Amino acid sequence: MSWLEVFLTVMSSLIGMELFAWVAHKYIMHGWGWGWHRDHHEPHDNVLEKNDLFAVVFGSINAAMYIYGSLYWDWLWWFAVGITLYGIIYTLVHDGLVHQRYWKWVPRKGYAKRLVQAHKLHHATIGKEGGVSFGFVFARDPAKLKAELKAQKEAGIAVVRDAVGAGSDEFEVMGRNI
Ligand SMILES: [Zn+2]
Ligand SMILES: [Zn+2]
Repeated sequence: MSWLEVFLTVMSSLIGMELFAWVAHKYIMHGWGWGWHRDHHEPHDNVLEKNDLFAVVFGSINAAMYIYGSLYWDWLWWFAVGITLYGIIYTLVHDGLVHQRYWKWVPRKGYAKRLVQAHKLHHATIGKEGGVSFGFVFARDPAKLKAELKAQKEAGIAVVRDAVGAGSDEFEVMGRNI
């Protein structure tokens, strides 16, 4: 493969993973996979969550892609590289920046702040129904997300925590993972 083909394969894999993550989060984690995802949405002080099992499953699929890719198809190997890169970005943003599993630094401005706010708003609903911001790297305007949550609450689609939309940019932290 030429370097251009490698670059395009890795980039399409990276972008594809954000779409895949959005769909999987909305329809698997908040659907039939809720049994594993649930503890990520409830306060606790444990180091690990059942939700981490998803990372084990996706990591195993990624490993299989490297094996098949090295045996049969170059492009699959590079596609797997894109998935690994997405996994690294995802865990730095989601586990590091938002949920403070690796460090405790809260961004006060810029896109990093927006990422944190968008994912905190994903955690603003109670239970698996409704909710906003199922993606991780592409974050929409928090004001629009809050308006959407309010509409879902009024329509009876979602149960929303009281602290949300109280006016300020801050969010009540109810536990390490919320
Ligand atoms: Zn979720
Ligand atoms: Zn989260």
